[in-house]
Amino acid sequence: MSIQIKTAHMEATDCSLITVEACMMRGFSGLQLIGSHTDVCKSGLERAKAALEAIGFKLPQRKVVLSMMPAELRKDGSQFDLAFALCVACLSNTQLKQEKLGSWLFLAELSLNGELRPVKGAISSALLAMSNGLEGLVVSHKNLDEITALLNLRQDGPLTLKVLAFKHLKDIIAWLQEEASAKLPLTISDNREKASGTFELKPNFDDMILSETMNKIALVIACGRHSLFLYGSPGSGKSMFCSRLPSIMPKMVAEDHIESLRIHSAFQANVCHKLMIGSPPLRAPHHQASSAAVLGVPECPGEVSLAHGGILFLDELPEFRRDLLEALREPLQVSYVTVSRARRKVTWKSRFVLLGASNNCPCGWFGSVRRRCICPTSKVLNYKRKISGPIIDRIDIHINMEEFMVDRSSLFVRSSSMNSKNDEKTQTQKLRNDVELALAFSNKRNEHLQVDYNCSLGSEQLHEASQLSSQSFQRMISAFGLTSISNRGIAKALKVARTLADLDQSKVIQEQHFRLALSWSHESCAKERGDEAYGLI
Ligand SMILES: [Zn+2]
Repeated sequence: MSIQIKTAHMEATDCSLITVEACMMRGFSGLQLIGSHTDVCKSGLERAKAALEAIGFKLPQRKVVLSMMPAELRKDGSQFDLAFALCVACLSNTQLKQEKLGSWLFLAELSLNGELRPVKGAISSALLAMSNGLEGLVVSHKNLDEITALLNLRQDGPLTLKVLAFKHLKDIIAWLQEEASAKLPLTISDNREKASGTFELKPNFDDMILSETMNKIALVIACGRHSLFLYGSPGSGKSMFCSRLPSIMPKMVAEDHIESLRIHSAFQANVCHKLMIGSPPLRAPHHQASSAAVLGVPECPGEVSLAHGGILFLDELPEFRRDLLEALREPLQVSYVTVSRARRKVTWKSRFVLLGASNNCPCGWFGSVRRRCICPTSKVLNYKRKISGPIIDRIDIHINMEEFMVDRSSLFVRSSSMNSKNDEKTQTQKLRNDVELALAFSNKRNEHLQVDYNCSLGSEQLHEASQLSSQSFQRMISAFGLTSISNRGIAKALKVARTLADLDQSKVIQEQHFRLALSWSHESCAKERGDEAYGLI
């Protein structure tokens, strides 16, 4: 007699169905695992054995062979522990209802005392169970929140997948024996409210004074998902501004949200609550991070993929390794990254808003009105040349962050007065409101173009979205005398101008929108800093 139990193996965000088959054979007593697998996978046999003994199960005094199919696929991970334990339990106790085993997917790591631990890849496994028409999924209670978040997103389709979340192996055994005393497992309906939650994010813009320009920039990025490069002296608020942007961005659309959940679930066993409720992720790797950490490896997603649907913030951009910055061109262009090692090649989705911040020189005070720069000219030039042209060219908005010369005490007066008036909207709420209105306007227009954000508008679509006739566009170009700006530069300015027009609920791009967008181009920004004198533009 053999027992078959289904479980899953992860390969990036894809999952494949694995069947663990067990039978007793002649030979020395003990457990033997066959089929291609790693050491982590094999050590699951010992965990399963210890967990079964801990709950008082007598192991069969015969040789038990466990086979993992398909045999040629190299299996990795600790999610097979539960399947191993149940196979051995069913062989030694014939009272367990085996008919439940064939149509369910079992996925959990076991501790030595029989507790169920969460595993990576629960989201992809749930999608796999659905696509294979399985009846349900048995997981650790710590994986339930993320699966609930996934099923909440798929409310439009039929909710056919049952999910049972247990805390201990003995509860699963009791469920299989259909004992009246069995502890009821947690299910999706118990958990639905917990995984939804309100969308209140911190940090937000309530504790920051925004100039008129930065206010506009925040709105433009949140609506159009344009990339941004901030230049400025230390303490001018570059990092503060970037880290607060997710608080005004709308919830991720279902497609991006599911993909982001899959990527984060492949990265770690528990997905954070912010991501479960749909808040766009913000990833800010250190400038000494390795290529593997930023771009990913076949086994694990990198920062560019963890930022999918949200923001990748590179503080001190010129300090990042040049080859790493060059490698960002692929995800920026095609919204995915392909990584390979030995014979494995994996593609991770990575569509993000790139935010970069940099000082103007190594000491940080070049162009500042507060302190004098002490760097020799050659060092300033080297610093500025660290970022290659193609990367700069792919960034839509360039801004010199102005130094705030305000009375410092006003910082506190402002925040306390905002707190005292409960009926008045906070700065973050106002910004979020403006973003929602502009997005509703632009989504309506972009719907038939099949584009979700203005940053993704192609040249043909841009022409239609701008609502400008060729003559008026030509007139606008000649009025500004744009000889030094490349065609790509003009297209970028036009996209940003489209978002500015959306913020004003204007169907046609007006001259003032295009003028403001052009003032945020790399060339204008460099001229403002005085880079012309160094021959950099
Ligand atoms: Zn300096």
